[in-house]
Amino acid sequence: MARVALVTGGTRGIGAAISKALKAAGYTVVANYAGNDEKANAFKEETGITVAKFDVSDPAACEEKLAGIESSVGPIDVLVNNAGITRDGTFHRMTYEQWKAVVDTNLGSMFAVTRPLINGMRDRNFGRIINISSINGQKGQMGQANYSAAKAGVIGFTKALAQENARKGITVNAIAPGYIDTDMVAAVPEKVLEGIVSGIPVGRLGKAEEIGALCVYLASDEAAFMTGATLTINGGQYIT
Ligand code: NDP
Repeated sequence: MARVALVTGGTRGIGAAISKALKAAGYTVVANYAGNDEKANAFKEETGITVAKFDVSDPAACEEKLAGIESSVGPIDVLVNNAGITRDGTFHRMTYEQWKAVVDTNLGSMFAVTRPLINGMRDRNFGRIINISSINGQKGQMGQANYSAAKAGVIGFTKALAQENARKGITVNAIAPGYIDTDMVAAVPEKVLEGIVSGIPVGRLGKAEEIGALCVYLASDEAAFMTGATLTINGGQYIT
């Protein structure tokens, strides 16, 4: 039977490309989203992928929804923690709401979504957890103290969880994309974006499909010896 993969924020942008790539690789995919029903329904129509609406920053909602998905679709063997948001602003002007929304969605979700699924993976002696961090969690980014902190936290979480679960057939890895052509990057002012692209040695933004292909590898049986890693995929913009 096909393995089940859950992709949070899986209905648009990078997450949509990950959902499609995993489906093409033979997984039964469930794509989560927050509230954009129009996009989610169009995605469902286009791909035939099941969509599930819940807020990844809400632990109680996640627990309830994930139990429902596992009982109707099957045990989730592959988890891609991809959902994320930005609420940019320099720190000296940042509100607590900006801070909290970004930390809860990008980092709090690591607990809210992974915690209800980890024991099932441990019982089955198999799991693949892929956490989407960011270049800006590695190098820091002015105007993104909240986002940089959350995405750096994702890397620490990945390393600890990898160690705890290595003997249980579960791998836990992070992907740190550079600038990828999605709605999130479209929100960056044009002049700022030109400056960013000029600093990318490959000379272009990344494609969401390039992250999807990496997820297919990390989810595979062949990737069993790779755990605790942070894979940078950024066109050479920041070489760690
Ligand atoms: P988009 O803004 O294009 O899509 C975000 C997705 O996440 C949507 O499906 C959205 O759902 C969902 N989402 C947002 N908040 C929640 C929530 N609270 N609960 C459930 N789902 C939620 O983002 P990208 O595709 O650009 O980014 C995907 C990931 O990659 C993020 O973690 C981002 O930080 C990271 N990243 C992106 C980079 C880029 O250049 N684009 C670079 C590095 C990292 P809905 O449609 O309902 O709003």
